[in-house]
Amino acid sequence: MGVFNHAEFDDHEALHFFKDEPTGLQAIIAIHSTILGPAAGGCRRWTYTSEADALTDVLRLSRGMTYKNAVAGLPFGGGKAVILATDSAPKSTQLFAAFGRAVESLAGCYITAEDVGMNVADMRHIGEQTQYVTGLPQRDDSAGGDPSPWTALGVFLGIEAAVSTRLGKDSLDGLTVAVQGIGNVGAHLCRLLHEAGASLLVADVNRDSLAKISAELPVEIVASTEILYADADILAPCALGNVLTSATIPKIKAQVIAGAANNQLSTQDDGARLSKRNILYAPDYVINAGGIINVSHEYHGNSSDDRVRADIDQIPERLQAIFTAANETGRPTNELADEMARRLIAADRKQQDASA
Ligand code: NAD
Repeated sequence: MGVFNHAEFDDHEALHFFKDEPTGLQAIIAIHSTILGPAAGGCRRWTYTSEADALTDVLRLSRGMTYKNAVAGLPFGGGKAVILATDSAPKSTQLFAAFGRAVESLAGCYITAEDVGMNVADMRHIGEQTQYVTGLPQRDDSAGGDPSPWTALGVFLGIEAAVSTRLGKDSLDGLTVAVQGIGNVGAHLCRLLHEAGASLLVADVNRDSLAKISAELPVEIVASTEILYADADILAPCALGNVLTSATIPKIKAQVIAGAANNQLSTQDDGARLSKRNILYAPDYVINAGGIINVSHEYHGNSSDDRVRADIDQIPERLQAIFTAANETGRPTNELADEMARRLIAADRKQQDASA
């Protein structure tokens, strides 16, 4: 398994591999960039089909975090961690403690938080071993806690912006949204969409998630193999990445794709494929920045939910700028977002060089 010649290796600053015999922990922490600050990004615990898949995931996710943090204007670089879920390494206090020690050993180069397969309780166990952790239980009304409701809020506001651009509507009332993945973010998003008058088509591979959301909201359950192609105005991918591919894109009926999942595009060319089909794609790391915005306020302290909300309110404005540029130039939104991120990082580097 090559690293430096890996297709997803993008001059990452560091890759750390951790193994802890007593707990079975196997984890990779990828630090893509620390130009804008310590590398911040969640920890994903997932059953990967191979170690190579885990490596690909962490390389892509950490690069996405660099771009996400830059575009969101946060003083963070980009990093990500993956814990390989296996039968011999079940979730346990000790496993998370071992992961916490791994994070602590990087002395603040990497700051962790929740991602897929992790929750606030897991973060607390990690936090017993390291100070470089966020997404801890919220104290009083200071910023903190589970970032996913904030991610969902940013995605909701982003969907409104995309709908205004692509469908010319200032409300979601009467529109249909297909939500793939009813986990932490997807369930919160469904609540916001329902309140706004949207009809919901939902899919998840986990029956419990579907049972919970059906008991709470009027939703129509769609097979997880069909949700991408559902008869909906908006598709909101909120499960895992690699869902927008040369095979899936031709069959998508929605005119807007706007969801929380990281790395929705399988390759950069898939952005152009969507653009050619006149499907408006909200770049994932721009629309799903709500959680990391909350994490940033929590990590830097002295903040409140009101300040988090004010920053999340800027997500639709950023998307709008990308949509307008896409309209004017005919270029895919993902390319424009990447360009925006690279410009912001280069400007910061130039400033650092000048003051050195
Ligand atoms: P989660 O683990 O709580 O939820 C993911 C859900 O997707 C689960 O219910 C899972 O069963 C379901 N799922 C997995 N594969 C599926 C498939 N093929 N079809 C349908 N459902 C499937 O994770 P989450 O925290 O809600 O995050 C969802 C996505 O958003 C992830 O890609 C994550 O990286 C991204 N994201 C999350 C946050 C956050 O604040 N949690 C922030 C930014 C981005």
